Amino acid sequence: MKILVTAACAVFTSIGCAYAQAPEPASAPALTQEQQRTVDRLIDEGLEDDLAWELLESLTTEIGPRLGGSPAEARARDWGVAKLKALGFKNVRIETFEMPYWERDEESARIVSPFPQELKISALGNSVATPEGGVTAEVVRFRTLLDLQDAPLEGFEGKLIFVDEVMARTQDGSGYGWAVAKRSGAANEAARRGAAVALIRSAGTSHGRTPHTGNMRYEEDITPVPIAALSNPDADLLSLAMRRAGGPVNVNVNISVNTKTVVESGNVIGEIPGKTDEIILIGGHLDSWDLGTGAVDDGAGVAITTAAAKLIDELRGKPARTIRVIMWGAEEVGLLGAQAYAQAHADELHRHVLASESDFGAGRVWQFRTGFAEEDLPKAQVYQKALRRLGIGPGHNMAGGGPDVTPLRRAGVPVFRLYQDGSDYFDLHHTMEDTLDKVDPAALRQNVAAWAAAVYIASELEGDYRASDAE
Ligand code: ZN
Ligand code: ZN
Repeated sequence: MKILVTAACAVFTSIGCAYAQAPEPASAPALTQEQQRTVDRLIDEGLEDDLAWELLESLTTEIGPRLGGSPAEARARDWGVAKLKALGFKNVRIETFEMPYWERDEESARIVSPFPQELKISALGNSVATPEGGVTAEVVRFRTLLDLQDAPLEGFEGKLIFVDEVMARTQDGSGYGWAVAKRSGAANEAARRGAAVALIRSAGTSHGRTPHTGNMRYEEDITPVPIAALSNPDADLLSLAMRRAGGPVNVNVNISVNTKTVVESGNVIGEIPGKTDEIILIGGHLDSWDLGTGAVDDGAGVAITTAAAKLIDELRGKPARTIRVIMWGAEEVGLLGAQAYAQAHADELHRHVLASESDFGAGRVWQFRTGFAEEDLPKAQVYQKALRRLGIGPGHNMAGGGPDVTPLRRAGVPVFRLYQDGSDYFDLHHTMEDTLDKVDPAALRQNVAAWAAAVYIASELEGDYRASDAE
């Protein structure tokens, strides 16, 4: 309908244009003038605010790497509680849950023949160990996971399966969506074929000799095969060695791990109580991988959302809705905190008006995406209008809301996402290079400003985002 009107305007005289520019119906949502002034003030203050940086520096320096279920993650929870309390958040608590634990012990790889030299690897989370001393096997290379899936089930017994699939660099990180499939996929396909061990080219875009780790899952009823990621330059190296060898290339992979059946993790929660018990849920995940200090993944998300909520708390009077900040536990190892929360809060999910997680680094926000009921889409324009001055444009309505929000989204909670520029995110993601120096303080402040504005609007704008027949 809108397209027709616009086309008419282009073709016909001023009558058509006048029709296209008719005022919006009175029911279109809008902020009051006072609310609009508050949004602008929050953005102005966010752009000057250094709390997010202070939190991120503190977390990465005083805690550092914080693998889900580890003693470091427990220290991070205590850190989160102390920070939220000091900042004046209410109902600060840890909601604990149990989880299995995995950590790497030692890992190494080397070409044994014909060109002996070391390869840089990182075991994937949940990988089983190799036998002591490692396993030496002839390498069979597959260009993609799909090629491996298409390969026969016989003829690979005792081999090293190498999936050399390259990940595309994109602004919105969509290249990761399909590249990440090889983490579990390569291990399971290798196991199905009786291979001895598997290596993948990292699901990441770093040019450094820094492998990208990440979680993987074995399917049931297979004999697990150990698996690690090669750094991109080392995947190049192995590929070139195979091209030049003129015969078999043999590689030794040595992985040892420690596991525990049950350890404790938890979600750290703090609130800015509103005038109603309706909830706007925001946050980032507190755990990180063990290789870097977890600055961009996801210390930044924790810092941005906490600082944004604090800015709103500094306004006079309570927000209309309660703003709940969650520092999610054990995200990297399987969204375990997210699942625990969705279960524990199942009976109050109807009071969750909107949910969102910041978990895509610390780049500038460039797009506002929604997961609203169609009938509530006009409300998205209120956010889009307010965020425009930050260089943030409108996005589609298929947002997932962020990893830890996934179970809530599935349960019908509407979501939004402030999409960050991820052009270089996957240079750092899950590597030892994920450190504080990679974060641009100005971009971090732009994030805080955008989050403060969006969360304030979510709190104050009347009406919800669910389809009316879903209530
Ligand atoms: Zn993350
Ligand atoms: Zn991650």
